[in-house]
Amino acid sequence: MRDFARGGLSASGAVSPTGASHPDPLGLAFDAAREAASRGEVPVGAVVVRDGAVLSVAGNRPRADRDPTAHAEILAIRAACAAIGDERLTGCDLYVTLEPCAMCAGAISFARIRRLYFSAADPKGGAVEHGPRFFNQPTCHHAPDVYGGLRESEAALLLRGFFRDRRD
Ligand SMILES: [Zn+2]
Repeated sequence: MRDFARGGLSASGAVSPTGASHPDPLGLAFDAAREAASRGEVPVGAVVVRDGAVLSVAGNRPRADRDPTAHAEILAIRAACAAIGDERLTGCDLYVTLEPCAMCAGAISFARIRRLYFSAADPKGGAVEHGPRFFNQPTCHHAPDVYGGLRESEAALLLRGFFRDRRD
């Protein structure tokens, strides 16, 4: 599942509802992850895109919001639903810098996300390629197409740097 076609993306020429163009949604997710790290959050960022338009960008906020559900993916899904006025994100794609956990995988399924692109695998907390492998379960009624391992080393460096700084 590491067959991400970068060419298809850059050709889309993303345009957000505000008119701003962004051809690199994963780059936006990395920006949000770094911004989360600067606030002392675990560095994870997520972006929802539809038809090349960026609907939402979010970084992790559990500490800031005192909310264990405030993962980047959940916040990005909520904001995208609000932006389009729908409880489902049919035809939307989610970009995230870390393999989603079980909670976020569930939300991705309920939101009917079309494609999931993620960077670093998370053997400890991930639920897509690890642990419960949520999308492969018979109780999962919508599974996105999954493309993992994009810019994996960049994401791994970001996470390692964050946890090293916290130990020092
Ligand atoms: Zn999560």
